[in-house]
Amino acid sequence: MSTLRFHAIKESLNRKPIKIEEKTRRSELFGLNVFNEDKMRQYLTKEAFNSVMDAMQNGTKIDRVVADHISTGMKEWAISKGATHYTHWFQPLTGSTAEKHDAFFEPIGNGRAIEKFGGGQLVQQEPDASSFPNGGIRNTFEARGYTAWDPTSPAFIYGTTLCIPTVFVSYTGEALDYKTPLLRALQAVDHAAVDVCKYFDKNVKKVNASLGWEQEYFLIDRALVASRPDILLTGRTLLGHSSAKGQQLDDHYFGTIPNRAMQYMRDLETECMLLGIPVKTRHNEVAPNQFELAPVYDEANLAVDHNSLLMDVMDKVAERHDFKVLFHEKPFKGVNGSGKHNNWSLSTDTGVNLLGPGKTPMSNLQFLTFFINTIKAVHDNEELVRASIASASNDHRLGANEAPPAIISVFIGEQLTSVLDELQNVTNGKLSPEEKTDLKLNVVGKIPEILLDNTDRNRTSPFAFTGNKFEFRAVGSKANCANPMTVLNSIVAKQLIDFKAEVDALIDEKELKKDEAIFNVLREYIKKSKNILFEGNGYGEAWEKEAKKRGLSNHKTTPIALRAKVSDKAIKLFEDLGVMNKIETESRYEIEMEEYVLHIQIEGRVLGDVARNHVVPTAVRYQNMLIDNVKGLKEIYGAGFKKLAQQQMNLIEEISGHIEAINSNVTKMTNERKKANNLEDFEKKAEAYCFNVKPIFDEIRYHCDKLELLVDDELWPLTKYRELLFTR
Ligand code: ADP
Ligand code: MG
Repeated sequence: MSTLRFHAIKESLNRKPIKIEEKTRRSELFGLNVFNEDKMRQYLTKEAFNSVMDAMQNGTKIDRVVADHISTGMKEWAISKGATHYTHWFQPLTGSTAEKHDAFFEPIGNGRAIEKFGGGQLVQQEPDASSFPNGGIRNTFEARGYTAWDPTSPAFIYGTTLCIPTVFVSYTGEALDYKTPLLRALQAVDHAAVDVCKYFDKNVKKVNASLGWEQEYFLIDRALVASRPDILLTGRTLLGHSSAKGQQLDDHYFGTIPNRAMQYMRDLETECMLLGIPVKTRHNEVAPNQFELAPVYDEANLAVDHNSLLMDVMDKVAERHDFKVLFHEKPFKGVNGSGKHNNWSLSTDTGVNLLGPGKTPMSNLQFLTFFINTIKAVHDNEELVRASIASASNDHRLGANEAPPAIISVFIGEQLTSVLDELQNVTNGKLSPEEKTDLKLNVVGKIPEILLDNTDRNRTSPFAFTGNKFEFRAVGSKANCANPMTVLNSIVAKQLIDFKAEVDALIDEKELKKDEAIFNVLREYIKKSKNILFEGNGYGEAWEKEAKKRGLSNHKTTPIALRAKVSDKAIKLFEDLGVMNKIETESRYEIEMEEYVLHIQIEGRVLGDVARNHVVPTAVRYQNMLIDNVKGLKEIYGAGFKKLAQQQMNLIEEISGHIEAINSNVTKMTNERKKANNLEDFEKKAEAYCFNVKPIFDEIRYHCDKLELLVDDELWPLTKYRELLFTR
């Protein structure tokens, strides 16, 4: 074992778990560091409190004078909890979160100082944010952007800083972050869904989208990560031969959580409790050292904030435990990757889950309405849905023989499939009383039962109905959920608007009764969106063929998948809903394409470096050892040496072959990178990186991994898969 590897492994083996003592009940810790309704009641004037609640529930603007009262209350609370600084916390298009801390402290002359935090500082800030990605928006318009308070997501204290969730927009109003379009999409789906709910219940005034994410991740010892330049710089291994034992025994999945990982989780969960992140579930995942954590679902905007915050907190807590969290979708080749399932539903302010079973035939018709409209929305926009989860790292999962495929399809289970089959035969136009009764009793009426034991599980589906919600499984573990959630809520909003118009038209023009009109429209939707429904094995080759026949897209790479974001249809959809204007949509596309290029570029550089400067020199050293050996044998045995040295001589040649292949491929890759870098057009550049640069990674890796098996273990500099995955 090389010295570097030896020390890394020794260091990680010597670590003792940090014992986490829990004296206080978690329910008592929950939300202690959040400026929630309880604290607002305590620290705000009645007027200020009402104004925040109104802003949260109805999106009303907060008056500047009232803002001063709110900030004063918030400051008092924060200082009482030991906070010294405040920050506007936002989610720029880098994918992570951003913050710039300012102290409450303010000198007031005569050597005295006070703690100050005014309404202005709460409501709006101007971070010097010219280095955040903006896809040309701020270059063409204004040089600056500003952050503005989002009162729908409560302020919280992390460490000693009061964090205020904000949107990040340019001075001309274009969104520069993930949150702004999400909030607009949530508003669009709220309005559209309320209008449709009115067919069933006049009392519904608000519909919230809910999100319950499940975060998968790997925990690797910090010293081991530091021994691998590829993990350190790209979050994944760019080379490494698979370990003799991997996940084939399935002995990790739901197994006993290793002690150090357990202490990490407990520590993390305590932090989450304080921050009001309702984490509930933890377990081992399929791969060794892979885990999952999931909260109880929440309103989508808050859930997205919580997930972004969680990823930060996970990193920070990991430092204390000498771990590094790998959020990458595919840190290890041949081992299960990580995703972030997005469980999604819609629920009303009257307490009804619109994708859950109801008590009356009418409420079950409401369920069917939202269920079928969601399927139709995904059917009509499958390419946009695929685009919403596209990234360089997620390409390793989607369409790479692993969960889930790059083809978007919807799984609903056998029983709901038969319900849709029956509904498909509903009479065109007016329904006879007999048919109505039959539908009510035998189709709609059966739904609660069906949903009750909807235990059908299909793990290979990218978008599955799971009894009272849809589970969007193709989202990447590293991704900000805002992106897929913006798309999903937008397409459903658009679909519900169309649905309402069609039903109203049938009522007005054909004089159909409300439920007749609904059945009529749903019938047509079922027929039109059949192609998106798929119950079989999503990983199989047969599905690829079948999907092609059905005309479904199968975009395996990000540059191709992203195009759907700027189709005329997508631009119009976002524009009509007020989610994003053309400039915003186009700039996001550009940013994501550029981000793709940067990721592949960095990986290419790191791989070239590791292959040439770590692998090849090591192989040469070993080869020299073999050469010395052959020379020695010749010296001792004279002409008869050949028989004894044949294997070594073969090995010398084999090593030379791999060294040659690595060197020529690294040169080829570098040249392709140069060519790609010279392309002006960002689409052409991304495609060049995807189709000309990236495929060479596999060639280089192949030969490096072969050498790993040939070269003396004592010389091999890079920590091996078995050590990364099984040292604890
Ligand atoms: P799994 O998918 O691992 O079997 P569950 O189905 O129990 O796990 O739940 C997964 C996630 O779905 C949890 O975060 C849960 O809170 C969330 N969830 C449950 N109901 C809803 C809902 N109505 N809307 C959104 N998410 C939900
Ligand atoms: Mg799940």
